[in-house]
Amino acid sequence: MRKVVKFGGSSLASAEQFKKVGAIIQADKERKFVVPSAPGKRYSDDIKVTDMLYTCYDLAEAGKDFKEQLKAIQARYQEIIDGLSLTLSLDDEFKTIEKNFKNKAGTNYAASRGEYLNGIIMANYLGFEFVDAATVILFDENGEYDAEKTNELMRARLANVDAAVIPGFYGAYADGTVKTFSRGGSDITGSIVARAVKADVYENWTDVSGFLIADPRIIYKPQGIETITYKELRELSYMGATVLHEDAIFPVRREGIPINIRNTNAPEDNGTWIVESTCQKPKFVITGIAGKKGFCAVNIEKDMMNSEIGFGRKVLQALEDNGISFEHVPSGIDTMTVFVHQDEFMHKEQKVVSAIHRMADPDAIDIEADLALIAVVGRGMKSTRGTAGRIFSALAHANVNVKMIDQGSSELNIIIGVANADFETAIKAIYDIFVLSQL
Ligand code: ASP
Repeated sequence: MRKVVKFGGSSLASAEQFKKVGAIIQADKERKFVVPSAPGKRYSDDIKVTDMLYTCYDLAEAGKDFKEQLKAIQARYQEIIDGLSLTLSLDDEFKTIEKNFKNKAGTNYAASRGEYLNGIIMANYLGFEFVDAATVILFDENGEYDAEKTNELMRARLANVDAAVIPGFYGAYADGTVKTFSRGGSDITGSIVARAVKADVYENWTDVSGFLIADPRIIYKPQGIETITYKELRELSYMGATVLHEDAIFPVRREGIPINIRNTNAPEDNGTWIVESTCQKPKFVITGIAGKKGFCAVNIEKDMMNSEIGFGRKVLQALEDNGISFEHVPSGIDTMTVFVHQDEFMHKEQKVVSAIHRMADPDAIDIEADLALIAVVGRGMKSTRGTAGRIFSALAHANVNVKMIDQGSSELNIIIGVANADFETAIKAIYDIFVLSQL
C-alpha cells in the first residue's frame, strides 16, 4: 500500500501544527509521499504566507523596498524551524529569493516560494527526500498543465524514491520558469503525485472532518458525508461547496484512486471518501445540498418556438457573442429561459437583449433578477421514487415559491431556482425533510 498525503495551509501554519502532521505521517508507514501547502493562518485574522508573498512581490515589481516584508515571511518560517528544534537554515534560500525578486522573477515564482520553503522544512523534519515540483510538474507553452508529460516525468523521478516531500501549488514550463496553479492548487499537486505513484489512496488533510451535507453557515451542525462519488462532488463543488480544489479530482479519477478528506486536528475521524463508484447505500437519499445566489433569468417567448429549428442556437449565439456564459436553459412550448450570472450579465443586458431580438426574432423578452440556484445532489435519488415531490412539498410548506426546476437525466441532481431572499429558507426546508426528519 502507498498513500499520498497532502496537508493544507492551516495544518502547517505553526510548529505545533507541524508536529501533529509529523505524528500522522509516522503513525502509518504507508504515508510515503507528502505534499505540503504554504503556512496558512494561525488564527482567524492572521495572513497566509502565500498572501504575504504576493504583497511583498508587488513592492518588488514596483521597484519599492520590500526588505521588511521579506523579513516578516522569513520570521514565519524561522518560528516553525525553532519550534521543531531543527538546525536547518533558510538564509541562503532567502538571499536567492531576494535577488530573484529584485530581478522581477514574476508573481508565480514569488507565490510558489511558500510551498517550496515549507517543503524544505518538511523534508528536513521527516528525513524524507525533497523533490522540487518545478522539476516534475510541467506546463505547456499555453500555460496549460501537461498531464501526460508530467505523469511520465514524475513517475520516473519517484520510481526509486522511498519517501519524498513534493511541494504543492506549482510546476514549471519546459525552460524551468515557475508557474503556479490557481489558488488552492496544492490539492491538484497531491492528486498528480497520487496518479504518478499509483497510490492506493490520496489523503487530503485539512481542518475539517470532511464534507458536510449542507453549509454550516446555514444549517446548524449539519451531518457529515461519509462517501461521495466524483460525479456528485463535481455537482456540489460547481454549486459552491469548497473544501477541495475543483480540478483535484481529475488526475486520480483516471486511475480510480479514492480521495480521503481528513482533519489534522481530529485524525481519529474517518472524514469523507471520494470514490468513483460504490455499492454502499448513502445514509440519506440526498448526499448534499449546495447553491449560489446572484442569478438572472432571461425569459424568451415566441409562439411555436419548439418547432423552429435553430432557435436555441441563435439565442445562445447572442450570449456567446457578448461573452456571457449560461448556467441552465429550461424550456417550454413557447418559452425558453436562460439562467446567467447577474454580475456578468448586468452591464451587458441591453446589448444581449437586442442581440437576441436581432438573431432569433422572439415575441418578447423578460428579465428576472436576484435569483438563487440550489442543487440537491445524490446517487440515492435514482432508485427512490418521490424525491422531487418531497422537495416541492417541503418548499411549499416553508412558503418558498419555486421559479425553476431542472432534473438532469442522470437523476443525480435536481436544480431548483428560487428568489435570493428564499435561499436559506429553502435549504433548511430541504435539509429538514431529507436529513433531520430521518435521524
Ligand atoms: N498556498 C496556496 C494558496 O494559498 C496554494 C494552496 O494552499 O493550495 O492558495
